[in-house]
Amino acid sequence: MSEAENTTVVSNFIRQIINEDLESGKNGDRVVTRFPPEPNGYLHIGHAKSICLNFGLARDYKGVCHLRMDDTNPAKEEVEYMESIIEDVKWLGFDWKDKMFYASDYYDKLYEYALELIKMGKAFVCELDAEEMRKHRGSLKEPGKESPYRNRTVEENLALFEKMRAGEVDEGKMTLRAKIDMASPNVNMRDPVIYRVKKVTHERTGDKWCIYPMYDYAHPISDMMEGITHSICTLEFEDHRPLYDWCLDTLKTPCHPQQIEFARLNLYYTVMSKRKLLELVEKKYVDGWNDPRMPTISGIRRRGYPAAAVRNFCDRIGVGKKESWIDVGMLEECVREELNMTAPRVMGVIDPIKVVITNYSEGEKEILNCPYHPQDESFGDRPVPFGRELYIEREDFMEEPPKGYFRLRPGGEVRLRYAYYIKCEEVIKNDQGEIVELRCTYDPESKGGKSPDGRKVKGTIHWVYAPEAYQAEVRLYDRLFNVPLPDSSKDQDYKENLNPNSLKTLKNVMLEPSLRDAKAATAFQFERQGYFFVDSIDSKEKHPVFNRIVTLRDTWQKVQA
Ligand code: ATP
Ligand code: MG
Repeated sequence: MSEAENTTVVSNFIRQIINEDLESGKNGDRVVTRFPPEPNGYLHIGHAKSICLNFGLARDYKGVCHLRMDDTNPAKEEVEYMESIIEDVKWLGFDWKDKMFYASDYYDKLYEYALELIKMGKAFVCELDAEEMRKHRGSLKEPGKESPYRNRTVEENLALFEKMRAGEVDEGKMTLRAKIDMASPNVNMRDPVIYRVKKVTHERTGDKWCIYPMYDYAHPISDMMEGITHSICTLEFEDHRPLYDWCLDTLKTPCHPQQIEFARLNLYYTVMSKRKLLELVEKKYVDGWNDPRMPTISGIRRRGYPAAAVRNFCDRIGVGKKESWIDVGMLEECVREELNMTAPRVMGVIDPIKVVITNYSEGEKEILNCPYHPQDESFGDRPVPFGRELYIEREDFMEEPPKGYFRLRPGGEVRLRYAYYIKCEEVIKNDQGEIVELRCTYDPESKGGKSPDGRKVKGTIHWVYAPEAYQAEVRLYDRLFNVPLPDSSKDQDYKENLNPNSLKTLKNVMLEPSLRDAKAATAFQFERQGYFFVDSIDSKEKHPVFNRIVTLRDTWQKVQA
């Protein structure tokens, strides 16, 4: 059983359609879906919605979901992208078993079907160039104009299409178009192009072809060839459905999958167009497709988002017909919920200041056994050393604190988590007046942070034993864009909305020594600071790097206010 099998099912309109089809016996008892990415970029969180939907349906209806590389545009597609797609779908916890396909596997069949359309008088070779074709297309208000090449004979069309296939026609000089209806109110039905000349070597078919099918033609036939029952896509394809149906109806194919459209995932503070994500990578606004700030699946994986959290998020946002925007906070909340259950707690000081406990003997230390999880004993304990020299968080001390500040202050007392009460006796500053050290005393009777005499201490802070601290680099991430809809304006380049402070690197973080054993790609909660993940690429034993996955609470709201 794969990880992704453990979920609760929430019904939606697609499930209702499938239920009805099963009842009427439309496809027998088969439910076959597919996820058909074009390998022209890395997958993003929007694709995760489609993956969870398609593979989730197959799982719940005991059907199958195919993974199909929609590789019909060799100019933009790369093996690197295919490999990343495979890795990402697997990481999300889904399994296509032996049902991995490539649209390019159907090139022969697609070509034969094109010949059939020509023979039926349903397709013709057109010599209008792109510009003329655009003029002929008409608009939403006006019907289109028929191409002067529309009424060629079948023989002429077959001969010209053969020339196209044989490489005798230059790119842009000829296309094969379906002959449908230039007056159709649906522009997609106005004699759409179904084949174009492209003299590009294909990753899989090499130089066998120099004509390549268009998506709207290749897709219904690929679905049909695989016996897909429900072909689920995003709403922008709704107007293409008549063409999807036209292809299969006209060719009288043995099966006819049903195209169903749902609303895509849109996230605030994010862009999700592959073209824009590619630009961010190519122009080095980010550190690659898997930069932890990217909305790509490889980015959020590297950042430390658990796959289960992404699946929960996709379940929670649901599947509907209406466009909507989702707050990133909702995804982060799913991440917190998951990590709260799965991440061990440790202590790490992000912005350290030295504390010397003056009444603790020099050269001595003790080992405290601290639980890895406050609610779940199964996590066990880890040994945490304590002694005379410690680090605490700079912001956990204030010389002149405002009302309601319960952490350390001159003459004040605070509890060190799992350890002792300490009292600040003296503040040591350098020549610039900056605080460099705090001199404190501890109460040996308060071991375990328990009050020895009923006196109350309100604040509890985290700390690290200085001599054995494990120094690390920590990367704090913020949203990549600083406005909710970074690519909504036509007059403004979305890149102007990049958040200049989306990455903050801290090199002098002090962690408790147990983290020396932390394996790559594991998550921890640094108490009071958030969840952190050992970076899978840059982290080395001598130079550990932790990514902050998410803060403990949604601090963004506060910052905005
Ligand atoms: P493009 O076609 O511009 O390259 P795309 O995002 O549509 O980009 P595809 O590889 O065609 O990329 O997408 C694969 C599948 O993922 C499609 O079925 C598509 O509908 C779905 N998908 C893409 N973006 C989203 C999204 N934001 N939310 C839900 N599903 C999505
Ligand atoms: Mg697409």
